[in-house]
Amino acid sequence: MILELTTFALLTSSGRVHRGWAFLCDSSSDFTMTVWGLFCSLVCGYFLGCLPYFILDVLKVPFFKRYKVQTYRYPSKANLQKCCLNLFVLFFFVMFPMISLSYPLFKAIGVSRELPLPSLFTVLVQVLFFFLVEDFGNYWLHRWLHTTWAYKNIHCVHHEYSAPFALAATYAHPLEVVILGIPTFAGPLVVGPHLFTLWVWLMMRQYEAVDIHSGYEFPWNLNSLLSFYGGTEHHDYHHYLYSGNYASIFTWCDSIYGTNLSYKMRKFSRDC
Ligand SMILES: [Zn+2]
Ligand SMILES: [Zn+2]
Repeated sequence: MILELTTFALLTSSGRVHRGWAFLCDSSSDFTMTVWGLFCSLVCGYFLGCLPYFILDVLKVPFFKRYKVQTYRYPSKANLQKCCLNLFVLFFFVMFPMISLSYPLFKAIGVSRELPLPSLFTVLVQVLFFFLVEDFGNYWLHRWLHTTWAYKNIHCVHHEYSAPFALAATYAHPLEVVILGIPTFAGPLVVGPHLFTLWVWLMMRQYEAVDIHSGYEFPWNLNSLLSFYGGTEHHDYHHYLYSGNYASIFTWCDSIYGTNLSYKMRKFSRDC
């Protein structure tokens, strides 16, 4: 019975998504749906993801203080304002032009908005593949960003906050946004996914970045279920010590290349 109800709910919601997509295709151009659609996915994934954490940080809700990775370290009003200005510049003057200029490339690799929409299974498998490619590419580029020249000239901006907060997930030098955009689009370049899958991917990638910068390690976070997902504490540690734990999503790159040893020792000594 539950299975039948779930199947019915999925079919009903997929029907609505299908009709909504058909409406968008009829009422807007391919360029609008690709460029503005992808940009809106970035914005929605980021700011909707930030909203609950922003409220917790501003209100400093006592109940949730126990879940802060770095106890009592909240962003100041000046931090939040500076961060918002940086995000405005990055979203409108770096990310939007990048997506616009990439439009011919999306078309060349076969990104299409045609119906039918891909199946849920296809979307999930492709997004998982994009996460794997992103994680590996991001790991090595992030390690390069910690070499002397790159850190001093580019990556130091992202590390201005040793106690990260959700809005600071993308707070960075414009060049860093361009460089780290490479692994984000590397997976889609290989696959040539449906535009809908690309929307989902960008939204989830943005939310994942917000999640690991939130500064809150809740018991219901994904990493408590999946040991190979890094999560908030894993990346928070990177901001706290400025080194180690370079991977942005999974834990295996840091394990294989031995860049999580000090994190593990610290965690071990704290848990003992
Ligand atoms: Zn770093
Ligand atoms: Zn970070």
